[in-house]
Amino acid sequence: MNSEYHYIGRFAPSPSGPLHFGSLVAALASFLDARSQNGQWLIRIEDLDPPRESPSAPETILKQLKDFELAWDGSVLFQSTRLDAYAAALARLKDRKLTFQCRCSRNKTPSIYPGTCRDAAHAETSAGLPTSTRLRVETCEVSFEDRILGTKTWNLQHQVGDFIIRRKDNLFAYQLAVVVDDAYQNITHIVRGSDLLDSTPRQIFLNQCLDLPQPVYAHLPVILGKDGFKLSKQAMARPISNEDPIRLLRLALKALGQKVIDSVDYSEVLALSILNWDIGQVPKNLSQSITNLSDEDVLK
Ligand SMILES: [Zn+2]
Repeated sequence: MNSEYHYIGRFAPSPSGPLHFGSLVAALASFLDARSQNGQWLIRIEDLDPPRESPSAPETILKQLKDFELAWDGSVLFQSTRLDAYAAALARLKDRKLTFQCRCSRNKTPSIYPGTCRDAAHAETSAGLPTSTRLRVETCEVSFEDRILGTKTWNLQHQVGDFIIRRKDNLFAYQLAVVVDDAYQNITHIVRGSDLLDSTPRQIFLNQCLDLPQPVYAHLPVILGKDGFKLSKQAMARPISNEDPIRLLRLALKALGQKVIDSVDYSEVLALSILNWDIGQVPKNLSQSITNLSDEDVLK
């Protein structure tokens, strides 16, 4: 192996609730990918939105990762400790004239921003009301090579639009915090669910605006429940339990298209799964239904 080569991956859950099967699949994939390349694997708790979080979730999530023997390197980074770094990045973007203040109502604004306030030069507080901060996107294409999905390309202006990096309620947007922290933690490889695929062009563009290095991406199929919707904490997906971890591990490996070793020893299956990990076998779909994994009873 080239001595210059290094791999630092991460799993970055938001603490809105305990991990469910869908988050186990994402955690396992990023863990196996990092360990199979002798890489480091870091944990970052994305606790930027207190109203949507559960105070006990970080502790629960870390315990669940330990139960499943997904051992991380170093100390856990909490985004709530990083507000100064996000403020500094925001100031840099403002200095570069890459932002503008927007007073549009979020509910009435189409998902691709029509540019209403782009040239209005609103102050931070406009007519007595707080504004959000948007990043000006260029009329350019963003393209990257996904390790699972292949080449992905977006027209930034038409498919993304100027997007929010600081909300009206003063909270920093996910997109800004992620790129600042991925750079801070020297993340080289991101393996995550395809529900975040639409965030990737925003994050690549932000990286370019802030002169930050671009990680390598791989987007996994998200797991859909029997109702056809993504398993999510908001939808009260059942938390993963440590009662029968090998069964869930097997099911997660199956979801990832990996060879499933026939052993009843959890540690042995996990260790061999690192050796056998082949990202080329991960299904190239944006989603897959839990009902295709046959053993779905475990998720009831
Ligand atoms: Zn606006």
